[in-house]
Amino acid sequence: MNPYWSETVRKLTPYVPGEQPKLANLVKLNTNENPYGPSPRVAQAMAAEMGDRLRLYPDPDSSALKQAIARHHGVGVDQVFVGNGSDEVLAHVFLGLLKHGRPVLFPDITYSFYPVYCGLYDIDYAAIPLTPDFTIRTDDYLDYGSNGGIIFPNPNAPTGRLLPLGEVERLATGNPGSLVVIDEAYVDFGGTPIPTAIPLIERHANLLVVQTLSKSRSLAGLRVGFAIGQKGLIEGLDRVKNSFNSYPLDRLACVGAVAAMEDDEHFEHTRQAVISSREILARNLVELGFEVLPSAANFLFARHPQRDAAQLAQALRAQSIIVRHFRQPRIDQHLRITIGTDAQCVALTTALRDILASSGP
Ligand SMILES: *Cc1c(COP(=O)(O)O)cnc(C)c1O
Repeated sequence: MNPYWSETVRKLTPYVPGEQPKLANLVKLNTNENPYGPSPRVAQAMAAEMGDRLRLYPDPDSSALKQAIARHHGVGVDQVFVGNGSDEVLAHVFLGLLKHGRPVLFPDITYSFYPVYCGLYDIDYAAIPLTPDFTIRTDDYLDYGSNGGIIFPNPNAPTGRLLPLGEVERLATGNPGSLVVIDEAYVDFGGTPIPTAIPLIERHANLLVVQTLSKSRSLAGLRVGFAIGQKGLIEGLDRVKNSFNSYPLDRLACVGAVAAMEDDEHFEHTRQAVISSREILARNLVELGFEVLPSAANFLFARHPQRDAAQLAQALRAQSIIVRHFRQPRIDQHLRITIGTDAQCVALTTALRDILASSGP
């Protein structure tokens, strides 16, 4: 420990991102990136923005991007907040809307950044166990009583399970004393119509929906996320943002994200491709003896009853295929596998078939 570290820094337990190995020819199925590129319009818009204009600060309000998001989702511009990736949006949500001196509630198995934000901002939390089949039980949250807010991904990560919108609405209605945050990083892979809670915000002042362009818009490298909620919530987030970084989105990110939000055709085409590859991969994994949770996301969460998950991940890695394994109670026998291109999915199933056929416990 360095003597100049503040007490805050000394006590932090930082988030550990999935690895980004610098090897070529990897089948990289470990961080839920989109296997298809972003809309070709993104690069065009960014190229047009290059040059002398980079001298100037970007629009601190990212108005053009907020308008594109508002148009796409049928909400008002004043109901949209944007940030440098939804991780940053979530950080502002924790500080600005979830810190009330009462525990924030989220599932015991969920996005591991939530407890990290709680540590950073000194927020108490309670982890509510998922049911044995990894479902969120709404009543466990409603029965908890006084809380600082509720947050979970829908579909949940890393399970992929979707909580029906009726249950999301029941949570918002039953928990009027604090905010309910739905982290919809993967919702666009949830089918048609997309099971987003955005239409519910009109009726619920305590509902906030967070989305990202990293997964379904294939722009993890650009760092753009947003939140949608009633105006007062957005104003709260703006107060945090303007006390932290007035220009979180640079010029290239703004124009690139607008282009991505406006290309409905590319969006539809790629999300449908991921969904159909997911269904094929799920069937193939079941054929290999895996138990696969139903997924509404761009990944599958699976375990093999006879094979140790860490060893499987290791054996795949030896064949240059990387999947995610969490050394965490309840899920240390599961693998989280990102949906790749069909060729990558075939490489995975072929490798698994070989590994399972060779000697093992
Ligand atoms: C990927 C992910 C995010 C973060 O997305 P960025 O916009 O890339 O920061 C947020 N929440 C969940 C559950 C995710 O899986």
